[in-house]
Amino acid sequence: DSEGRLSGPYDHRPRHAQTSASMPSAQFKVNDLVFLPCPEGKAEEGPFLSGVVCEAPESGDLVVKVGKAQQRVPASNLRRRFIRDDGATCQDNTALVHLNDATILENLRARHEADEIYTYTASVLLAVNPYHDVTGLYGEAQCARYRGKHIGALPPHPYAIADTAYRALVRDRKNQGFIISGESGAGKTETAKIVMEYLGYVSGSTNQMTAQIQRRVLQAQPILESFGNAVTMRNNNSSRFGKYNSIFFDEDGTLCDASVTTYLLESSRVVVHAKRERTYHCFYEMLSGLPDEKLKKLHLDRAKLYLLLANEGQASATQEETSEEKRFHAQFKDLDLRNFNRLCVALRDVGFSEEDIDLTFQVLAGLVHLGDLSGAERDDDDESATIQLDEETLQKAAELLGIDSSELGSALRRRKVKITRVGRESIHEVPRTTLQFRHALFSLIKALYKRLFERLVARINGSFSELRKPATGEEEVERCQIGILDIYGFERLQRNSFEQLCINLANERLQQYFVENVLTAEQNLYRREGLPWTGLTLPDSTPVVTAIACTFKTLDEYSQQLAKGFEKTSDEGFCQKTVEEAQKDPQRKEVLKPLKMSNKRGSSAGLAMNEGFIVKHYAGQVEYNTKGWLDKNNDRLLVECEELICGSECNFVRTLGDDEKSKVLFRSISKKYSADLENLLKTLNQCHLHYIRCFKPNELQKRSIFNDNLVLDQIVQCGTIELVKIMHDGYPNRCVFDELVSRFRGRFPMSA
Ligand code: ATP
Ligand code: MG
Repeated sequence: DSEGRLSGPYDHRPRHAQTSASMPSAQFKVNDLVFLPCPEGKAEEGPFLSGVVCEAPESGDLVVKVGKAQQRVPASNLRRRFIRDDGATCQDNTALVHLNDATILENLRARHEADEIYTYTASVLLAVNPYHDVTGLYGEAQCARYRGKHIGALPPHPYAIADTAYRALVRDRKNQGFIISGESGAGKTETAKIVMEYLGYVSGSTNQMTAQIQRRVLQAQPILESFGNAVTMRNNNSSRFGKYNSIFFDEDGTLCDASVTTYLLESSRVVVHAKRERTYHCFYEMLSGLPDEKLKKLHLDRAKLYLLLANEGQASATQEETSEEKRFHAQFKDLDLRNFNRLCVALRDVGFSEEDIDLTFQVLAGLVHLGDLSGAERDDDDESATIQLDEETLQKAAELLGIDSSELGSALRRRKVKITRVGRESIHEVPRTTLQFRHALFSLIKALYKRLFERLVARINGSFSELRKPATGEEEVERCQIGILDIYGFERLQRNSFEQLCINLANERLQQYFVENVLTAEQNLYRREGLPWTGLTLPDSTPVVTAIACTFKTLDEYSQQLAKGFEKTSDEGFCQKTVEEAQKDPQRKEVLKPLKMSNKRGSSAGLAMNEGFIVKHYAGQVEYNTKGWLDKNNDRLLVECEELICGSECNFVRTLGDDEKSKVLFRSISKKYSADLENLLKTLNQCHLHYIRCFKPNELQKRSIFNDNLVLDQIVQCGTIELVKIMHDGYPNRCVFDELVSRFRGRFPMSA
């Protein structure tokens, strides 16, 4: 739907029925409490109705009373329900008397209502976003409470998991990892900060250095948020990049170092974003917060609605549309101002000088002015005409970026083409069309922003190494780390592009990891120990992962050709080839489909056959639009634009240049991303993993609203049901046999 909510196979009732154990009617008695699926067409009432069994014949349908009405229901559609006399909820879902999707949902709902937002499911922590500050839930006093306590001794909390991880690290000298997952707005980033806060508390401030590392770990977060988060329809503070924070500890458990790795910033957002969304926070924060005299130096006007900061199409917007856009932005003003101050404090804490801070804003301002050129046009009927650029804006942008304004103008107006005549090559300049101009301008802005972001990340990492003890020449002490992964959740938007495929690939890999590490490992353990266990069929993501890998390979071939200037290479050609190749492989064709075959109505976004394809992900089916992928996949900037950056008079801007000597024309983004992802998985492989699943209770980002349908989708999607089944039917508690015997020998009439 318009919100980009998932509405896929998981909305269908049969799916829910499958995940819950169906029961023969003989198992129900009169007066049993039950849940039954809500009838078709009444989905708004929630996925389940609660009722009481009135008649339970030996065979055939049961009669269930729902409210005042009675209805016949086959036993296989019913789930058991249990209400405790004291009305208490369960801190751990595996302790529910009856275990199924409906009871888990009921438990989470009741806990959410009471602001008990955390619930365990065996070793996994579920967190339902409260959308308000729950009083007394965090802070030093709470940290102190959780310190050294066993899981289960206190109410579920990220602090409890963090404490367990920290103690395991100190005791076993083994790396620990947190995988925090959930859809956009579910609370991953907030939860990651809560975990880091605890780790800082339990391990830091023993001396000045550790206190400083601790502070920098925490202060890096607002910097990354200002530059990598944005207002989207689904979350007012949505992270548009993935992030893995590593915190290192020496052998006595003292904090000794940290680092952060980021993944695939959504750089297209810098130049275009949808209505009722924004570009990255830092732009608005700068305009709200910089003092007047600094703004003046940057030629910025606080009240102006710059094109880069407004939604697409503002260049030709009506007055009414513009005032609507302004009203939309006005609601964030106070927040931007507060966050501007928070950002400046954080930059200083992390070790940025005043000059560095000023230069960072100078580049941002340069981009804002560049963006204002984007409305320019040329008379495309006249082949010799060039783009009409506003000289004053061009001057401002050029000045702030340290580039000569006529060179900037000429790079944007004309492109160089190689012409070979009678065996001799010569370079000619031809005017860019409006489309080519906009492409050149946008790539320049995107590349500068992306590199600025990478620079900030590198600076943050550098600031940790600055603090590290200088090497003594002795062999470096063995250090262990706790990693915290806060990565974008599965995405199915109205329009899904290259970025979504990358994001969803990460989710496929991580979900597979979860299945293998938690679910399969548990089942294998039972088999090894010879325990009776029938086993569950678990989902396998291999076909999807292979299909995406093949797609990326084809994409690289085509991107490369485009970069070399083959005129006939097109996004359509790539799309067609991808689909054709997939259809040749019996496994891949099940998961990657052409638009028409899998969707009777054709594409839901009105695409033609060669403009996209469909991938069946574990979390639902996604339709991808392949427009622009050949270009999106290339990390190299147009040569003319790269030369501008490398030739800047401003040192800072020049270091953002990429003067790779070999002058390669193509560098694959998908390849780099896949490699980064594999590295991440390798790191995780060396960790003992802790899972936190975040849930979004409603689409409105409001407190006290719990949308049953929405939460159930998320419960099913993330494999919680399978986990609960294994844990419940399985053996959640275990101890070594010898210890058991020594502890209980003689206490029970045992023969052993
Ligand atoms: P995205 O994938 O879009 O980055 P996310 O899962 O990281 O989403 P967050 O930004 O962490 O989501 O959370 C969204 C908002 O929900 C926060 O800005 C905050 O207002 C609220 N929120 C999340 N967790 C909590 C919490 N534990 N206590 C209070 N508010 C919370
Ligand atoms: Mg986030």
